[in-house]
Amino acid sequence: MAMVASDISRSAARPTVAGRALATYKLIGVEPISGACGCEISGVDLRQPLAADMIAEIMTAFEHFAVIVFRDQDLTPEEHKAFSRYFGEIMELPQAPTYGDHRDMQEVRREADEPENVVPSFENFHTDSPFLLRPPKCIVMRALDVPRWGGDTAFSNAYLVYENLSDGLKQLLDGLEVVYSGADIWSKNEKLPPEKRLRLRESHDLTPDQLTSVHPAVRVHPITGRKALYVTTAYFKHFVGWSEAESRALLAYLQSLAQQLHYHCRVKWQKNTLIVWDNRFTLHRGVHDFKFERRHLVRTTVLGERPLGPTDLRAQ
Ligand code: MN
Repeated sequence: MAMVASDISRSAARPTVAGRALATYKLIGVEPISGACGCEISGVDLRQPLAADMIAEIMTAFEHFAVIVFRDQDLTPEEHKAFSRYFGEIMELPQAPTYGDHRDMQEVRREADEPENVVPSFENFHTDSPFLLRPPKCIVMRALDVPRWGGDTAFSNAYLVYENLSDGLKQLLDGLEVVYSGADIWSKNEKLPPEKRLRLRESHDLTPDQLTSVHPAVRVHPITGRKALYVTTAYFKHFVGWSEAESRALLAYLQSLAQQLHYHCRVKWQKNTLIVWDNRFTLHRGVHDFKFERRHLVRTTVLGERPLGPTDLRAQ
């Protein structure tokens, strides 16, 4: 069957990836990683202050692909922080171990002699710190030391998960809220056998109240209005007004959707790879498929807005 003229012009003019038409980039190279999310950006040296028009293109790629990857970025911690601030204000986290003397950086580290199952609860797709009133907007992570093979990070696009739901389930979720809490992670961690324990930060300034928040199950982008599923197992307690059993049943189904490969991209780290991922509209997980090798990543965390829901007047 012949294509109609409008189909031809649409496909020729605006290739579509990650659910949206590809923008035009003049200053940076942008190479999509998969059809679902993620791109590699070339032509940028992050050690330098960046010109406003280049920052604008990087932000366009960030909002579109939700995961942006830069290679060969040999940054000092101060350069790492300076680049992070283009995305917003750097925040401290109550639970993640800090990097050296930098209270405003965190590290993810597995030594060569540590077992591969050291972080069981984060082997599922998750978002970071949804229990905070203003969870992180994005994470800026750089590799210092990586295994020869394995130890990738995978991402799942929560916009696409939501957009592919039926209208009936969308409607149900649009009206739901979730209770997230990180208040019990320290006590739970202590009960695990030592080799299964998370490395947690030992002290922080937050009260127990500040470690529990209620957020919409569907999160709305504050500028574009695009909607994404904001339900994930880590720190999840229940849906507001639902029993725990009911909540867990729906949660299990929603979490299973995020596992589907057509929502994913996966990034292989190299030394000095830097990734910025949108922690509001993607889920992520490390892939712990390496043994007897060291993996050391350092990161900053950028403060996000209080999550907006579909019925939230704050979205207006
Ligand atoms: Mn994480």
